Amino acid sequence: MSNVYEQKVNDFMAKVIAKNPAEVEFHQAVHEVVETIIPFIEENPQYSEGKILDRIVEPERVIMFRVPWLDDKGEVQVNRGFRIEMNSAIGPYKGGLRFHPTVNLGILKFLAFEQVFKNSLTTLPMGGGKGGSDFDPKGKSDNEVMRFTQSFMSELFRHIGPNTDVPAGDIGVGGREIGFLFGQYKRLRNEFTGVLTGKGIAWGGSLIRPEATGYGTVYFAEEMLKTRGDSMKGKICTISGSGNVAQYACEKATEFGAKVVTLSDSSGFIYDPNGIDAEKLAFMMDLKNVRRGRIKEYADKYGVEFFPGKRPWGIKCDVAMPCATQNEVNEEEAKALIDNGCFVVSEGANMPSSPEAIAIYQGAKILYGLGKAANAGGVAVSGLEMSQNSMRFNWTREEVDEKLHQIMKDIHTTCVEYGKDGDYIDYVKGANIGGFVKVADSMLAQGLV
Ligand code: NDP
Repeated sequence: MSNVYEQKVNDFMAKVIAKNPAEVEFHQAVHEVVETIIPFIEENPQYSEGKILDRIVEPERVIMFRVPWLDDKGEVQVNRGFRIEMNSAIGPYKGGLRFHPTVNLGILKFLAFEQVFKNSLTTLPMGGGKGGSDFDPKGKSDNEVMRFTQSFMSELFRHIGPNTDVPAGDIGVGGREIGFLFGQYKRLRNEFTGVLTGKGIAWGGSLIRPEATGYGTVYFAEEMLKTRGDSMKGKICTISGSGNVAQYACEKATEFGAKVVTLSDSSGFIYDPNGIDAEKLAFMMDLKNVRRGRIKEYADKYGVEFFPGKRPWGIKCDVAMPCATQNEVNEEEAKALIDNGCFVVSEGANMPSSPEAIAIYQGAKILYGLGKAANAGGVAVSGLEMSQNSMRFNWTREEVDEKLHQIMKDIHTTCVEYGKDGDYIDYVKGANIGGFVKVADSMLAQGLV
């Protein structure tokens, strides 16, 4: 980047940091975008005249609220709830809810900001939002989770709606939590609408929604590999996480002929050199989704190694898919991946690679599919769930999967269109500019709102 652009990026970031102090993840997400967008805006002055960058980093609305609830001992607990309504230029706010003790305003603003670009890339009419709470579902009974989610929705319901803001799941929010949230919304509004996505199939959900993020991440990896005349077949894959995204990334990668050798949770990772096949994955799904246990049980059952407190990036692989959380690959781990021959990173998680790790991938010119492109499959099928709810009609599994696959291909094409630099495809630039244009043009068309 030239010195002039670098100065502009630094000046812009200084303003963002001063206005949003201590929100380090938000600064990180904004920096990654403006680094690629500022040179583009210089060539397209309508965006700087309309002060689009200054407007796009400012949420349209931030809602913070108290969530009191009673635990099983009858004691009062208090958590904090949030909803960031970031941008509605191209559709209702759309984005997940995260329940995790690390949740704070800065983390949700980073996620909401990324969501704006990601949703635009899907080609579907969805604005960007994100929400959640510092509530920790781990170790809580089903009744405690229900009481908490009902209290959470008792405030959130007045801010959302099928044409206003449509939340979904994220870390700590899966089918069980969406069920309780939907039930409470319906009770308070006396309305059966598509106000949340990720619903159960019997009550308005879409087939393939649970699978969509993980499948999409693998479809995106396959598209990146195609640019080098290659495919997932025969590749060794490391995956982090063992939740919703990791499970279905593992399933689809295996279906595509790859061998997945790791999965993890916050206690460490398991390394299964023979590959996590369908039967072993079924065990993992039961462990994580039903029994809600720790990953070491997998190592005990199948006699493989468990690495407590470690992440899987030191294991030799061709393809790495971080599917757990933000900043889970640092500079040293990125170097270890490259040194071990990894040449594809497809991110199921949001912002899992630190800026230093991204610089390592880009320096080595590997195929690097950043989260906002590679994990957009989840929100894309959420968009399809909204369409099906509006039509009061359901598509088949095959129809939804085909649409998801096509959307991932289209996102890849957009990234190539805006990110091609000679032989190299800069997916970071491609996704950021590709996502930006539609939102920015819509903001300009709608005047100063
Ligand atoms: P889940 O709650 O289903 O699973 C999260 C997994 O990541 C668990 O294995 C969890 O381990 C692990 N994890 C979470 N936080 C940490 C941490 N701080 N350190 C180490 N491991 C951690 O969440 P999802 O699978 O839905 O989400 C995973 C990622 O994918 C997130 O970044 C999310 O934003 C992103 N994403 C999710 C989408 C979706 O459709 N669900 C859509 C697009 C992106 P443990 O159980 O021990 O905490």
